[in-house]
Amino acid sequence: MTDAPIPDAERKMQFLFQLRSKGVTDTRVLKAMEAIDRGDFVKGIFADRAYEDMPLPIASGQTISQPSIVGRMTQALEITPKSKVLEVGTGSGYQAAILAKLARRIYTIDRHRALVMESRKLFERMGLHNITAIAGDGSFGLPEQAPFDRIVLTAAAEDPPGPLLAQLAIGGIMVLPVGQSDAVQTLLKVRRLDSGYDYEELMPVRFVPLLEGLV
Ligand code: SAH
Repeated sequence: MTDAPIPDAERKMQFLFQLRSKGVTDTRVLKAMEAIDRGDFVKGIFADRAYEDMPLPIASGQTISQPSIVGRMTQALEITPKSKVLEVGTGSGYQAAILAKLARRIYTIDRHRALVMESRKLFERMGLHNITAIAGDGSFGLPEQAPFDRIVLTAAAEDPPGPLLAQLAIGGIMVLPVGQSDAVQTLLKVRRLDSGYDYEELMPVRFVPLLEGLV
């Protein structure tokens, strides 16, 4: 006898329950994560694991982050409907799509051209017209669109990149993993104040490294 497939509604409920139990409690964030189907961003043999709380392989040797980490990072960003957001590390486009439900405007950059092209198609198909996906090295940010109210990195740098600190608006928030690529990293929340920057360590995380150049 084979197991009956789990109905979609039940899978969705389990998905949201897992998020809550891992500290994603902000109602707006949960609503955005309910609206964006992670199954649309995971292809091939891993597709049936899309609703599990784990990172999964995507194209170009990269990964889609663990949903609870996406939720915690989104929550830490304290996004408002007026926010202009920069994401470094488009990957599958999942994080950007969630941000698009919460903020006014999203710019997302990835160094892999193929991932940017794929995610553009997905955003179009999902009707997410407030996202601009750009191929480039995100360590330099996007000076022509700066300043940003919020900046999020989904690849780990040893330290917050200077150009990104400079492109953060006063009063703005940046969330990023910092640390060596092969060790446990720390999720850092940076707030730009009138007089400088305030740093808060949130939790241990593990992300792919922020690398140089376009591929
Ligand atoms: N946010 C993604 C997960 C991204 S994985 C999602 O929701 O699926 C990290 C991504 O960062 C990879 O796609 C990698 O190509 C990208 N990356 C690494 N270094 C980069 C850089 N300097 N500029 C832009 N993207 C970079």
